[in-house]
Amino acid sequence: MKHACKRVSQLTSDSFERELSLTEKMQLKLHFAMCSLCRNYHQRLATMAGIFEQMREHDLNQDIQLPIEDKQRIQSVLEKEK
Ligand SMILES: [Zn+2]
Repeated sequence: MKHACKRVSQLTSDSFERELSLTEKMQLKLHFAMCSLCRNYHQRLATMAGIFEQMREHDLNQDIQLPIEDKQRIQSVLEKEK
């Protein structure tokens, strides 16, 4: 992994936990423009964040179990990360 990519992947995961500074956002945008790897990585994280958001809402509103296919999908995404 290139050094820039390492930095960007760190910023990408940070972006789901805190508000990035303007400079950091610019860094991400610039890097995404030229690096499809990091763009895909961000896309995947955003999708996962969406899934987890849904899970939380399910938990809050009603006690609905996540369909087994969803669990397996999340599991397989996590496996690929290793
Ligand atoms: Zn990159």
